[in-house]
Amino acid sequence: MNAYPRLPEFEYVRPQTIAEASQFLVTHAGKARPFLGATDLFVQMRDRVIKPDYLVDVKGIEGMNDISFDPSSGLTIGAAVNMNRVIAAAEVKDHYQVLSEAAQSVASYQLRTRASIVGNICNASPAGDTIGASLLLDGMLNIFGEVASTRSR
Ligand SMILES: Cc1cc2nc3c(=O)[nH]c(=O)nc-3n(C[C@H](O)[C@H](O)[C@H](O)COP(=O)(O)OP(=O)(O)OC[C@H]3O[C@@H](n4cnc5c(N)ncnc54)[C@H](O)[C@@H]3O)c2cc1C
Repeated sequence: MNAYPRLPEFEYVRPQTIAEASQFLVTHAGKARPFLGATDLFVQMRDRVIKPDYLVDVKGIEGMNDISFDPSSGLTIGAAVNMNRVIAAAEVKDHYQVLSEAAQSVASYQLRTRASIVGNICNASPAGDTIGASLLLDGMLNIFGEVASTRSR
């Protein structure tokens, strides 16, 4: 057994827009994965659970790093906002304490500088600490996607 397994090789892709990311993912369906902090993804790749050819870094896309609160529409957390930023946000502490506490229970400060709430939800582990809090608060995920063309000539 290899005590120091390495990541398999992959190609790093950094799209500028959500449409570009989505198009790439649909064109390379089954071979490409979106990633945020990669705290789940790299572990699964290291352990050979998954072996994507492409990792699509969606952190640079506009809006992904924004966190905002509006009394009527509520809290909006960009997919790339890390857990430490969620914990530090006054609007989360004031209005969504259970989410703040759930995020704080995740691993360590160092890990939380990478790990995101959206990644925690998308990974869908039954042990995901922020999933229960998001459900309790009636959280919603905004999902953007292209559909692969199935038309044949
Ligand atoms: C040492 C260690 C300790 C941990 N401790 C805890 C803990 O105490 N509690 C806990 O809940 N978790 C824990 N985790 C798990 C992990 O840190 C969390 O699940 C984290 O929140 C995942 O976020 P991420 O940004 O790193 O996601 P990533 O690893 O980047 O992505 C996670 C999954 O989501 C998918 N994905 C990413 N972005 C998108 C997107 N925009 N659209 C669709 N799918 C997407 C990826 O393809 C991947 O399948 C731990 C992990 C490690 C390594």
